[in-house]
Parts: sequence; C-alpha cells; structure tokens
Amino acid sequence: MSQTLEKLCELHKHRVILHRLKEKARTTTVAITAKKKLVVRLKAELDRLAGTRKSGQAALDRKELEARSLQEKINKFRQQLNEAKTNKEYQALQNEIKFTGIEKARIEDQVLAEMDKIEKQAGDLDRAKAAAAQAEQELASLEAEKAAEVEALQGDIRKAERDCADLAREIPSEAMQQYDRVASRHEEDALCPVLVEGEGNGDAAYSCGGCYMRLTENVYVKLRGNHDELLTCPTCTRILFLEP
Ligand SMILES: [Zn+2]
Repeated sequence: MSQTLEKLCELHKHRVILHRLKEKARTTTVAITAKKKLVVRLKAELDRLAGTRKSGQAALDRKELEARSLQEKINKFRQQLNEAKTNKEYQALQNEIKFTGIEKARIEDQVLAEMDKIEKQAGDLDRAKAAAAQAEQELASLEAEKAAEVEALQGDIRKAERDCADLAREIPSEAMQQYDRVASRHEEDALCPVLVEGEGNGDAAYSCGGCYMRLTENVYVKLRGNHDELLTCPTCTRILFLEP
C-alpha cells in the first residue's frame, strides 16, 4: 500500500473517532436542549395565564363596583321614599327601587360568573407555576448530572481534532481534497477495503467493501503495487485500500 494511502487510513481512523465523539456529545446534550425548550414554553404559558388572571380580576372589580353603586342608588331612593309628599311621587320611587333592584340582581349574577372564572384561572395559574418550577428543577439537575460528562467529551474532541490536523499535514493536499470530497458523502465509510474471494485458486473475485460491486483485478494489482494515486470504487466513489 502506498504511503499516502497508509497515512490516509490512519487519519480516517481518527476522523471516525472524532465523528463518534461529536455524535456522543450531541446526544448527551440533546436531553438538556429539549428540557430548556420546555422551560421556555412553560414560562410563556405562565405569563399568558398571569395576564388572563389579572384582566379577570379587573373585570370582577368593575362588576362589584357597579353592584355597590346600584345598592347606594337603592338606599337613596328608600330615603326619598320616607320624604315623599305625594302618592305619585311615592309610586315613582317604588318603581325606581324595583327596576334598580332587578338591574343589581343582574350585575350580581355577573359578579358570581366572574368569580367562578377567576377561581378556574387561579387553578390554571397554580398548575402552570408548579409545572414551570418542576421543569426548571429538572433542567438544573440534568445539567449538573451531565456537566462532567460533557466536559470530558469536549476535552476528547479537542484532542481528536488536534490528532486529525497533525495527520492531515502529512498527506498531500490533492489526496486530502479527494478524501474530504468522499468523506462529505460517506463519512465513516469514506475508505473501504477491497474484498477478495477465492484468492489462490487462480479464480479470484474482487469487490468494493462499501457497495459490494465487482472490481477489476487491475484495481487490486495497482493497490498492491504501491501506486501513489488514490483509487476509488467506480460505483460508489469510496476510496479503496487493501486490508493488511
Ligand atoms: Zn463501492
């Protein structure tokens, strides 16, 4: 095998390690990311419910004030009733008291309805508060639990990145570019061994270890001959090598 290919195989091993470390770091933090999103959502819901509760209280206050002023009106009419001079005046005041009483009863029904609404809103708000607090607590313990693991992974990733950079410097840039092109499509399988069947009985068959399509004997011969050019599978474009 050519030196370039040998070094590329070594680099590829480290690139696979790096790729797996990054994937592990991503899955380790995925639960934290999801919990953070949940906390944001629950807090927004909490704000919305607090706003509803506040406007509900304001509506109740208005209705109670209205009911109180109608009662004051009735009291005033009753006082005037005692001072009525004519029967007609007395009758008119009686009517006022009656209709104001009906209006007051209507408003009082509305007060009760608003109170029911507020009670429900307060319950919703309490539940939302508890849910947000619980999610925040879970997020904090998740972060604490994963902190050491994430830090260790980040250290391993930095080391793997340094190893990859060191190895890449020893590989001709043309070969590196070709490798990067293939790696962008095949990632961990950018390099594939040539599979050999029936060698030694004069009837050997060669195939690509990535896509299993047949390869010509010429590819195998070239790889054994230490040619410096990189050889790729004509079907899947993966870079081929011979397993020692
Ligand atoms: Zn192939």
